[in-house]
Amino acid sequence: MNIEQLYSTYLQNPSIQTDTRKLKAGDLFFALKGGNFNGNEFAAKALELGASFAVVDEEKYFTQPDKMMLVNDALEALQQLALHHRKQLGIPFIAITGTNGKTTTKELINAALSSNYKTYATVGNLNNHIGVPLTILSIREDVELAVIEMGANHQREIEAYCKIALPTHGIITNIGKAHLEGFGGEEGVKKAKGELYDYLRANNGTVFVCNEYGYLMEMSQGIPHIVTYGQENADYTGKPVADKAFLEVEVTGDSKVGLIQTQLVGAYNFPNVMAAVTVASYFKVPAQKIAPAIAAYVPSNNRSQVIRQESNTIIMDAYNANPSSMKAALDNFAGLQAPKKVLLLGAMMELGEDSIKEHQALADALQRTHWDAVVLVGGDFQKVTHPYIFLPDALEAKKWLEQQQFKNTYILVKGSRSTGMERVISQ
Ligand code: ATP
Ligand code: MG
Repeated sequence: MNIEQLYSTYLQNPSIQTDTRKLKAGDLFFALKGGNFNGNEFAAKALELGASFAVVDEEKYFTQPDKMMLVNDALEALQQLALHHRKQLGIPFIAITGTNGKTTTKELINAALSSNYKTYATVGNLNNHIGVPLTILSIREDVELAVIEMGANHQREIEAYCKIALPTHGIITNIGKAHLEGFGGEEGVKKAKGELYDYLRANNGTVFVCNEYGYLMEMSQGIPHIVTYGQENADYTGKPVADKAFLEVEVTGDSKVGLIQTQLVGAYNFPNVMAAVTVASYFKVPAQKIAPAIAAYVPSNNRSQVIRQESNTIIMDAYNANPSSMKAALDNFAGLQAPKKVLLLGAMMELGEDSIKEHQALADALQRTHWDAVVLVGGDFQKVTHPYIFLPDALEAKKWLEQQQFKNTYILVKGSRSTGMERVISQ
């Protein structure tokens, strides 16, 4: 592959497309292979629709040599192009990985940094082997700071992303139980996420570490630059204000950031907010700009959103769930002041051989707190013993909820993406 030739084609119109349905004239088309489609089959169509150029990796589709490049592997070509582009950009790249809260942390950091800089951050959740290179290739020359989300569900994935993004700074939000199947247990998760620290350790990098997570403090040892945040004894400190439906954070220490009234639910968002305070302060965003920027961020996609319906307050956290985020959400919900509390919990997916054990542990933990009603929905909740209502799916849970006619009640809705728990209320 001639990377220089590919790069000059890209520079003429730096817009990449892998899907002919979204193609615009002038786009550079990459023929990627997905589970259900082979992009090569659409390469000629892409040119017909006005693509400037198409990168294919099967000879039989290499039909227009003047407007096509034949490579061994189009995905690898995309990643190499991203690396080449990254090398031209002499700016800091902040990489974010971890089990929970990557997108929220990324959005908060981007909100705080963009109050003072031209930034580019991963759009939505484009955090995989295609999303990471596409994100890099969306960064234009005037950008001063980039914030890149990196997701992973198996070993060596983060390492590969680091080799394309060449991050200078990094954050592991936390390490918990998720995708246990692909990682081979919790130790496996630690090793996989730790690949970000390994890269930064070897490349004179800087990490931002929440000092409340002993395992992160341990794992980050030996990294040349370590900036800490937390409630105390850290470079940047703050305190969550308790008992409020929306999280408030009082930034303490020498910082002039002050009180941040967020639109986030859950004390578990405290480290996410502090990460943003820390990164923004570290990059010298004026203190008075930080709190308003963080306060303005409203989560989307059913990530801990508050919905008020008549006299009820619904905490809609149906974006995803795993044992650690379930625990965080329940601890937070237990701490809220509310006349009545109801739980509608969907099953947790991708837990492999630990699945039944984890669902049983959750059902057991629930019994240590008083709830006015608990409904467990679908998946492996069916296979565990508990004193609660079990319903097979979210639509049955919706019917149940409608029959109850709750008033003055707080309702927490949480579950793995595929349980579709957001369907329990009509939004
Ligand atoms: P994904 O793996 O899908 O990319 P993510 O890591 O980007 O997820 P977010 O989208 O930011 O995570 O948040 C998803 C959900 O995780 C939130 O709705 C919330 O329930 C939970 N969550 C967010 N931050 C934390 C945290 N610090 N600790 C535990 N749970 C969290
Ligand atoms: Mg995400």
